[in-house]
Amino acid sequence: MTTVVEIPGVPAAVSQFLNREHGLLIGGKVRAAADGATFETLDPSTAKPIARVAQAGQADVDAAVHAARTALNGEWKRMSPADRSRVMNRLADLIEADADNLATLETLDNGKPFTFSRYADLELTVAQIRYYAGWPTKITGEVVPVSAPDNLVYTRKVPVGVCAQIIPWNFPLLMASWKIAPALAAGCTIVLKPAEETPLTALRLGELALEAGIPAGVLNVLTGDGRTGAALVDHAGVDKISFTGSTAVGREIAAKAGRALKRVTLELGGKAPNIILPDADLDKAVEASFHAIYFNTGQACNAGSRLYVPRDQYDDVVNKLAAVAKATVPAPGLDPTSLYGPVISDEALQRIVGFVDAAQSDGVKLVTGGKRIDRDGYFIEPTLFSATSDNYTIAREEVFGPVLVALPYDTIDEVVERANATDYGLVAGVWTENLATAHQMADRLDAGVVYINQWHPSDPASPYGGIKASGIGREMGSAGLDAYLELKTIWTKVG
Ligand code: NAP
Ligand code: MG
Repeated sequence: MTTVVEIPGVPAAVSQFLNREHGLLIGGKVRAAADGATFETLDPSTAKPIARVAQAGQADVDAAVHAARTALNGEWKRMSPADRSRVMNRLADLIEADADNLATLETLDNGKPFTFSRYADLELTVAQIRYYAGWPTKITGEVVPVSAPDNLVYTRKVPVGVCAQIIPWNFPLLMASWKIAPALAAGCTIVLKPAEETPLTALRLGELALEAGIPAGVLNVLTGDGRTGAALVDHAGVDKISFTGSTAVGREIAAKAGRALKRVTLELGGKAPNIILPDADLDKAVEASFHAIYFNTGQACNAGSRLYVPRDQYDDVVNKLAAVAKATVPAPGLDPTSLYGPVISDEALQRIVGFVDAAQSDGVKLVTGGKRIDRDGYFIEPTLFSATSDNYTIAREEVFGPVLVALPYDTIDEVVERANATDYGLVAGVWTENLATAHQMADRLDAGVVYINQWHPSDPASPYGGIKASGIGREMGSAGLDAYLELKTIWTKVG
């Protein structure tokens, strides 16, 4: 059964794509799930279905892992590093040429404003693939100066093997590119599992990869839900799991990977402290702190969700933030003026409202927002709480929605201690005009990434990832490539 969708203002190519019979991409062929199961994906701006995709089950997971294993030892293995680089660059070119359609698809499936899907997600996706396309010709080992006489010892970096890559719905295509680009550069093969809420751009990515000349079976795409992800994680034919998503699921995957001794990279949740120091440029800090939390409707692992403000500047900062929040106009992602879209699903909206209600019951002061917006789709107001203590649930747990908690502080030592007193450690931010203070703070904050006088900067060359419950390992940069390589040491007796 196909859902027939006509969406005003959507290019014909995108409408045609939506109305297709979508299958799974396994071994270079598109096929229905073995048991014929399908599910619908919605536009969060309207809550209406936009496409129907296949629900991969165990037999499909088996077939995809088998295809990836076969491809690992086939043409892909024989392809020269220069050719691997060339097909990756061609994939980046194809994505760039199709960027308007892909961004439209992303906006429809995820709800995010087109301005962001086109000029943030798509641009960064292309940059990510181009950056890693430069790596295949630069992966070298070394000659090791051992003490044993008459020995030549050298190392090589070889692909880890078949990789299960499981991604969330908040930056669907961008997260797919973060995963596939270093894996392809390393010579691995992939089974990619997009989130059930946002399966569409991953399917299009799979097609473009084939068109770019990436051999069949190197990138397999399985749409499905958490059961599909779990079946992939459990599969004995998978050598490495790379997962981005919630800390709860990440813990489960780490435990399973530990038992099976599979390689694992985890990018998990956060509750990032954003610290305004007394000497900060306050206008700049307030403006950027607004976007630090409300960008992508707060659905970002690096959202600046705990804002620490010096006590004597506190009321001023809270009032300014509340004014910007009240002036924010929520609008569907395809509205060209939209900068603030819906959240991903009704379930997500209910969860966020639950956090808001619980915070109010706890006695935390609601400054502005907190209510579902009375219109189609899953819209909720930008929400600001003012709290007197870090111990409230709203100041400790990841809401993954447009909810900021402002907290006053008195001394720098105190704010450092409070910022670090969390299970998470993904990013932290500091605002100050004093360079020495900035770097002292960067040293003292427990986080994988520290932003100084800005939020959200991202570059494929710059490693990203968390400490503590925010994850294991890094993506991007050379560290992100190493996560897909094993070191092999070769001893040769030469005398
Ligand atoms: P999620 O529920 O953990 O889902 C993430 C992915 O895992 C989805 O593809 C999901 O499939 C799949 N999955 C669910 N249960 C699974 C299981 N038992 N085994 C294997 N796979 C399973 O996370 P989410 O709600 O989509 O994403 C939000 C979370 O991601 C937040 O905590 C956020 O902080 C984190 N995140 C982190 C980063 C980072 O770089 N650190 C970046 C973005 C997001 P279904 O969607 O079909 O359930
Ligand atoms: Mg959707």
